Amino acid sequence: MSFTCPFCETTSHHPMDDRELYCNRCRLFLEEAPAIWVVWSFEHGAWWGPGRWGYVAELREAGRFTQREAEQIEREANVVAVNERALAWVEAQRHGSPVISARES
Ligand SMILES: [Zn+2]
Repeated sequence: MSFTCPFCETTSHHPMDDRELYCNRCRLFLEEAPAIWVVWSFEHGAWWGPGRWGYVAELREAGRFTQREAEQIEREANVVAVNERALAWVEAQRHGSPVISARES
């Protein structure tokens, strides 16, 4: 496993970094920086792309939004059916794409 830091784009292959989601370059535990959100499309089975443009398969290529933006996308897209789910980048990195469309809360 590896991950690509959403801030500096550096890919870490260090197993400890991967487990703790620590970016050596940013010197940052990404868990403590949950400001980056991504949006999963159940309809397309893919992440929303940067600038809301298209869809991408890989989380590292996914568009990065503020929580406000991501939840706005989710709201606007889910008028007819629940097709999108906004979630924090750290959650996406840890658990992958969401498997259920409804919020657990
Ligand atoms: Zn970084």
